Amino acid sequence: MSTNIEHIECLIVGSGPAGYTAAIYAARADMKPVMYAGMQPGGQLTITTDVENYPGYPDGIMGPEMMELFRKQAERFGTDIRYGMITSVDFSGKAPFKLIADETHEIHAETVIIATGASAKWLGIPSEEKLNGRGVSACAVCDGFFFKGKDVAIVGAGDTACEEASYLAKICSKVYMIVRRNEFRASKAMQNRVLATPNIEVLFDSETDEILGETKVEGARIKNRKTGEMRHIDISGFFVAIGHQPNTGIFKDYLTMDETGYLITVPGTSKTNVEGVFACGDAQDKVYRQAVTAAGSGCMAALDAERYLAAKGDASTN
Ligand code: NDP
Repeated sequence: MSTNIEHIECLIVGSGPAGYTAAIYAARADMKPVMYAGMQPGGQLTITTDVENYPGYPDGIMGPEMMELFRKQAERFGTDIRYGMITSVDFSGKAPFKLIADETHEIHAETVIIATGASAKWLGIPSEEKLNGRGVSACAVCDGFFFKGKDVAIVGAGDTACEEASYLAKICSKVYMIVRRNEFRASKAMQNRVLATPNIEVLFDSETDEILGETKVEGARIKNRKTGEMRHIDISGFFVAIGHQPNTGIFKDYLTMDETGYLITVPGTSKTNVEGVFACGDAQDKVYRQAVTAAGSGCMAALDAERYLAAKGDASTN
């Protein structure tokens, strides 16, 4: 552990649309924000293709490019962006809060803005883990290219799964879509796109019994949940698109969260149960989960942090 303790007015943890927007507002309010951007700066949008629903981009924009623009804007106003992780926190007392970055560097922060987002969920079967990175992936946009002209499968029935199935169908010769119920969860528009794509075959009422292959994916055994019947499919790639888990594990001893780990904020604000700690983006939103709502909540967090500091300053001078 380094002996140099760093004192920070505003620490932002995470670098998706929520974190960058919080940084832009905090920097412009002269809070000298320091951002720990994590191991994959830019968050989930860096593994997305076209973003067509973010206002201000009438022709759409690629997710990674959009995050690059967010980063530049945050830096332009002086955000200190660091490519590392906050590895532990202590929110037990009042501010300043003690946090450890990259397991070695101690930081004392007057305010903390949590924008850690969410990560992909996995099925949890042993063959999925064994073949992860060898044909098993949770990101069609990142890895679809490797299966050009081949047959693949994707699990899930939400908007993500439909979007990724459509994306894969353009690259691969055939896409099996494994849906556990007899209906989709995705919006009608996304469902219709999937159902109208000739090289996507939807297997309803189906679950993955096993992904087959020793050193790489060669097939999968799919079980019909109604009849129990097993079907073997020959595939080279297996994609999982079954939702996300909020990245909030390091806060569990201090912050109120729901049963799945989403941080709970005071309605209409970004305030957590600890005064001086604010949450924004997908780490606290399981309902909307959009780039634009994440960005909006990042703005709220920075404004809430600024007002908290101002109120504290007023109290100490009175
Ligand atoms: P969702 O939670 O919406 O969907 C997850 C899907 O995975 C569900 O169909 C669920 O099945 C299925 N599933 C969950 N666990 C398993 C399992 N163990 N085995 C098999 N299937 C499983 O997640 P998404 O990532 O699709 O979407 C998240 C949010 O982001 C949504 O609000 C969505 O609308 C939004 N989004 C919007 C997009 C857009 O507008 N362009 C693009 C992508 C996402 P079941 O239905 O049976 O529960």
